[in-house]
Amino acid sequence: MQENTANTWVTDRRRDIADGVWAKCPECNELIYNGELGRNLRICKRCSYYFPMDPSTRILFITDKGSFVNYKDIFSDEDKSIIIGGEAKISEYPVVIMILNLNVPLITDNFSLTEKIVNTINKAVERKLPLLAIYTIGKERHFINFPAQLLSVTTAINKLNKEKLAYISLLSQTSAESHFPAFAYSADIVIAESNLPGTSHTGSRIGRRDAERAVQAMFQSGIVDMIVQREDLKSKLTDILKFFH
Ligand SMILES: [Zn+2]
Repeated sequence: MQENTANTWVTDRRRDIADGVWAKCPECNELIYNGELGRNLRICKRCSYYFPMDPSTRILFITDKGSFVNYKDIFSDEDKSIIIGGEAKISEYPVVIMILNLNVPLITDNFSLTEKIVNTINKAVERKLPLLAIYTIGKERHFINFPAQLLSVTTAINKLNKEKLAYISLLSQTSAESHFPAFAYSADIVIAESNLPGTSHTGSRIGRRDAERAVQAMFQSGIVDMIVQREDLKSKLTDILKFFH
């Protein structure tokens, strides 16, 4: 009888994980209620594993409540798992924010994706606001083989520089196998979000130690200017925006 109850419990939990009510930490196997995970910046309370964050959640967590306004003239609803852009405030400092998630299969072709990136950067130039771009690890080298598209993004970033507007880049889910586009590294300040395990292009998980080592190597070689924990991200961004204001 007792065994049956236990089995039912396990089955229920399995169904709940599938339904997204509970999440299982891939690092320590802890079952965490999804609502609780959201309140804790998607960090496992037991082992501090950083669960990936989709662009909308990311915006909620770093911007002032209710301040984000999506650029509806650039982005459609179907873009939102890959790219989001708009204006928001971070501790009252206005900023153009763009989140590019290259960890999902592209639903839009490279050309229109590039166009959206360029248009968002141009908005920052028009509005005379700093640009915060957040990049999530790519499984594929989306931009490597497209020099013309890279060039158009670089040209847009040069306009920002000319107007003396800050470009801040945040690399998330960094690992030894991360493929960030070249323009992710050309910012005035490049931040890496630390403590993240990555997923290799073959789908196997890279341990947290390897991910951390990759971030440290980028910092030591000067590719990354600072390593910031997820919990401290908003206050660090506030300091940077204050500095450039
Ligand atoms: Zn955990």
